Amino acid sequence: MLSELQRAQLEEFSREMGKHKPTSVGYPFNQNVQFSEFYHWYAVSGLADMALNNIGDPRQPSPYALNAHSFENEVIDFFAPLYGFTPNNYWGIVTSSGTDGNNHGIYFGVNCLRAQSEDPPIVYVSQEAHYSIKKLTHLQQLDMRMIPTNIRGEMDIEAFEQALDPRRPALVVMAIGTTFKGGLDDQAAINAVLAHKRPVAVYRHADAALFGGYLPFTDHADLVNQQICGFDSIAVSGHKFFGFDEPLGLFITLPEVLQRQNPFHVSYLNAAVPTISCSRSALGPLKFWWQIHKVGIEGYRRNAALILKNAIYLKHRLDEIGYPAWRNEFSNTVYFRRPSDWIMRKWNLAPDEDVRLGGKLAHDIVMRHEGMHLVDRFILDLLDDLSD
Ligand SMILES: *Cc1c(COP(=O)(O)O)cnc(C)c1O
Repeated sequence: MLSELQRAQLEEFSREMGKHKPTSVGYPFNQNVQFSEFYHWYAVSGLADMALNNIGDPRQPSPYALNAHSFENEVIDFFAPLYGFTPNNYWGIVTSSGTDGNNHGIYFGVNCLRAQSEDPPIVYVSQEAHYSIKKLTHLQQLDMRMIPTNIRGEMDIEAFEQALDPRRPALVVMAIGTTFKGGLDDQAAINAVLAHKRPVAVYRHADAALFGGYLPFTDHADLVNQQICGFDSIAVSGHKFFGFDEPLGLFITLPEVLQRQNPFHVSYLNAAVPTISCSRSALGPLKFWWQIHKVGIEGYRRNAALILKNAIYLKHRLDEIGYPAWRNEFSNTVYFRRPSDWIMRKWNLAPDEDVRLGGKLAHDIVMRHEGMHLVDRFILDLLDDLSD
C-alpha cells in the first residue's frame, strides 16, 4: 500500500506535468495523447496483471505464448504499404523508439553490406542529422563521414559526392526531416551520386522519425515511398506525430535485408532472433493497433493537414511581426531567432545555433496540440519580449 505521503507525491507530479503540457511546443512530441480508454480496457481485461512479451521474430511462431505478435504484424501490415512496400515484400517490428529503429537500420545495413563485401563499410550522414545516428555509429564502431549541410539543413550533395569512397561499401543514412530545421535530404540526388560513383555495395536507411509519421498522409507521400526512394529500411517514431504516451516506433525493411541478418540460432526460442533487443514490448503494438482502428487513415490525414496548416500560420504570424523565421517545405518545424530565456522556458523551446542564420536559434515543432489560438498566444509573448 502506498502511504498518503507517497500518494501526495504522485499527485503533485501529475499536476506539475499537466502544467507543462499546453505550452510544450519546442519538442516533437504530440501532446494530443488519448489513451485513457485503452488503459481502462487494459486494466479491466486483466492484461495489466500479466507479463506479456513480444520476444522473437513476430512473423515466426513463438514458443512464449503470452505475446501480442499478431497485433504487431497487423500494425506493420497497415504501415508497410503506406511507406511504399509492395505486398508480402517487407518485414518489420514495432520498436521502442526512433533510435531503436535507427539502430536496427544501421545494424541490418552493416550485416547486409558484409554479406556483399569484405571491406568495412563507411557510414555517410549529414552534419544536421539526428545525434542518434552518430552515437549508434560510434556504438557499432563504424567509420563515419559527416557531410556538411546547406542552409536548410539538407545534405550538401556535392560534398557527399566528394566524400564518397567507391572502393568501400556505403551505408547512407538519409535524414527525412532533420531534428532542428526539418531539413529533408534529397534522396533522388543522393541516388544519382550513388549510381554515378557506384560503390562496391550500398545500403540506404531512411531516418524518418518525425516526418515519416505524417508524410504518408499528405500529398507528398512519395518522399517516404520505398519503391520511389529506394531505401532499404525506414525508422519512424511513434510518440512524435502519432501521439503515443511513451516512446515507441516502427522499423520496416525488405525481406532480402532480413535474410542477411545474424545466423545465431536460439534453441529455446526455436528460431533465429533478428531483433537487437530480445524482450520487446507487447503493450506498444497493442496501443498502436488500438490507435490505427480508432483514428484511421482519415484521422491521420486530418491531423497531418492540421499540423502543416498551423505551422504555416505560425510562420505567417512571425513574418507579420517582422521576426526572423524560416520553415522548410513539407515541414511542421518553424525555426527562428532565439528569444529571451523566459520564453524559452515557458514554451519549452529547444536551442540551436547557425552562424549562417545570424547565430542563436530556437524552434517550434507544431504538433496537434498547437492550434492557431496557441500560436497567437506565443506571438503575444514574443511581442512582449521585443518591447522589453
Ligand atoms: C526524434 C528523432 C530521432 C530519435 O527518435 P527517438 O524516438 O527520440 O529515439 C531520430 N532522428 C530524427 C530525425 C528525429 O527527429
